[in-house]
Amino acid sequence: MILACPNLLLCSQGTTDDAKKRDGVIVSKHVFGPVDTNGFIVGDVESGRCLIIDPGIDSDEMLDTVRQREWNVDWILNTHGHWDHIYSNAQFIRETGGVLAIHAGDIDLLEALTDQCFWMGVDIGEPSPAPDRVLQDGDALTVGAMEFSVLHIPGHSPGGAAFYCEGEGTVFVGDALFAGSVGRSDLPGGNHAQLIASIRTKLLTLPGDTTAYCGHGPETTVEREKSSNPFLK
Ligand SMILES: [Zn+2]
Ligand SMILES: [Zn+2]
Repeated sequence: MILACPNLLLCSQGTTDDAKKRDGVIVSKHVFGPVDTNGFIVGDVESGRCLIIDPGIDSDEMLDTVRQREWNVDWILNTHGHWDHIYSNAQFIRETGGVLAIHAGDIDLLEALTDQCFWMGVDIGEPSPAPDRVLQDGDALTVGAMEFSVLHIPGHSPGGAAFYCEGEGTVFVGDALFAGSVGRSDLPGGNHAQLIASIRTKLLTLPGDTTAYCGHGPETTVEREKSSNPFLK
């Protein structure tokens, strides 16, 4: 059984802080761990409140940024339940008090973090706590003045979710969609046809200038993927 995530190896390790700064919102991108997983802090400057997306393995530097900026963490969101996106859930909950949320379809993966680490040959860390909030398609999450809607995008995993902030023109897509590629679907619970349908119906229908932040590699836009992604022709 292979539980690796796609690894595009396009990003060097480290942080791109203030990768996008608009209307008092900061998106801080952090790249960490053996498969260069992207984690994000999305903060509302005026309220000092933020959410965390995908506190993966070796993400201490992202936690340091939360402390240095003195962000108040409302949410800890998992785009999906693969080990490299959820590895540090326990640590982030303990240190920030954020509310853990993941789509209902990936709770089995969340509970199997230890098994995933075993199969991947990475250090077995702390199990993830159970989610405080189980997400469904269409749920709304607020952080300061920002509102995010949950888009269920199964196919890379059963409970993959994107988090879309219409007001900021941003969507966090996890491992479903990459710049010029799509996520793998040969992992347990994966389904290629379902993945492509999810991308077409939930992501490519967003405004073309929406910035998509991916679980690995660089960000892209909806329009760029719609026009040039070879997997979506
Ligand atoms: Zn991944
Ligand atoms: Zn994944």
